[in-house]
Amino acid sequence: MPEKKISQVEFVRSYFLQRPMEIISHEKAKADLESAYLTIMGKRLEDSDRAIRKLYGDGFLEKIAKGQYRYNPETSGRKEFIEFSQAEKNEILKRDNFRCVVCGLGRENGVELHIDHIKPRSSGGEGTVENGQTLCGRHNYLKKNFTQTETGKKSFIRLLELVEGHPEDPNSSTLEKFLNEILDVYEKYGIDSHIARDGQESKS
Ligand SMILES: [Zn+2]
Repeated sequence: MPEKKISQVEFVRSYFLQRPMEIISHEKAKADLESAYLTIMGKRLEDSDRAIRKLYGDGFLEKIAKGQYRYNPETSGRKEFIEFSQAEKNEILKRDNFRCVVCGLGRENGVELHIDHIKPRSSGGEGTVENGQTLCGRHNYLKKNFTQTETGKKSFIRLLELVEGHPEDPNSSTLEKFLNEILDVYEKYGIDSHIARDGQESKS
């Protein structure tokens, strides 16, 4: 029984080893692994969920977002460098006067304090005092989720390019207008200006 479990974990590990730096969702990994295991081993892979969680828990995989994993050969197995130790957390809190560095609120204001990686883990940011900052729950959430707007902007630009390539489609002009307006909103708020729309024309 334990032998079988080890071999399943190793099967899952080799799947990620073959895909360095690829961000893979839990669902995709599970589907790929189950079908590959069935083909190769001739039986069902029973506990891919547990295997993925174990590989993450062991520091072999890193979690990029909820349910999104990556094997990064540079940092794999170096969990102690990536996560903050309790001592480092305490030092960061003390340095930041136990307050969110963005809004200045502290526990006495009823907010929860989080230690955030200034340079994110997914970009190789390490769990050091220098790379840590104190954030309240709200600002931690905002920081984490702002990368979502980048993903969104990229996909809107891509859609716009597709739509512009099909002017004969009766729906394309509405969709094009809609997408341009969304991208204008990004510009209005100066969000993700490092991602540019192709063939950007200035509108008056
Ligand atoms: Zn805050």
